[in-house]
Amino acid sequence: MSESPDSQLLAGRHAVVTGGAGGIGRAIAERLGGLGARVSIMGRNQDRLAAAAEDMGAAAIPCDVTSEAAVEKAFAEAAERSGQVAILVNNAGAVQSAPFTKVSLEQFTAMIEVNLVGAFLCCRAVLPGMVEAGEGRIVCVASTAGLKGYPYVAGYCAAKHGVIGLTRALALEVALKGVTVNAVCPGYTDTDLVAGAIDNIRAKTGRSREDVLGDLIKDNPQGRLIEPGEVASTVAWLCAPASAAITGQAIAVAGGEVM
Ligand code: NAD
Repeated sequence: MSESPDSQLLAGRHAVVTGGAGGIGRAIAERLGGLGARVSIMGRNQDRLAAAAEDMGAAAIPCDVTSEAAVEKAFAEAAERSGQVAILVNNAGAVQSAPFTKVSLEQFTAMIEVNLVGAFLCCRAVLPGMVEAGEGRIVCVASTAGLKGYPYVAGYCAAKHGVIGLTRALALEVALKGVTVNAVCPGYTDTDLVAGAIDNIRAKTGRSREDVLGDLIKDNPQGRLIEPGEVASTVAWLCAPASAAITGQAIAVAGGEVM
């Protein structure tokens, strides 16, 4: 079968995906690479990062997105190795759950740091180059927790609402510069993050896996977990040259959970 003309629509573009070694980030990195982009994945665990990068033919750049110095260094290295960053996917993130009054300041701040400050630092690192080039795509992997509340994850919800605010504000600031800034908002997605959340709830409540999973998917009208590849498809679409008019959006990939 001959390839469609769109099959290499990101050819020549350098894409950075944070937290790209596993889960949703890995699916995004593979998809962008499949569309012809030169991909760099960033993350904290060097061995895991190197193994994933080798599998997908990407560059592995160690980076803790909560560290200003590490982010500056990592993006300088990425640009040196693979050229000007044309696509940034802020995917790195983490969730911790606990009843509100049991959350320490340190735990709350950690949610803001990894989910929101990390996105801010990475955007700031790539923006001057994108503006100078007159084109760029930034996609933040937020969450339905950026569009609605969930109990026991106040810090995560606050951070993801913040990511959507950052997305909207930055989209306006660079609207005339050829750079689009959007967020995708997955519902519960089949990754280690959700597996960890299920284990955590089971440890605290003694409930069965099926029972806990049933609770997580009951708000999704499609009654299922989202697949990482479904999130990757939406990110890839936002990164396409033809998506230039789409900016400042927070697009739910959640089976109709929010509308
Ligand atoms: P995951 O735990 O598999 O992936 C998160 C990635 O972020 C990991 O690779 C991790 O190493 C990396 N990371 C965490 N802290 C980091 C740091 N300080 N610096 C660099 N990298 C760091 O989980 P996932 O489900 O694939 O999550 C990816 C993104 O999707 C996250 O932002 C998450 O909040 C969001 N999300 C996930 C779900 C879900 O149900 N799985 C739903 C909505 C949104």
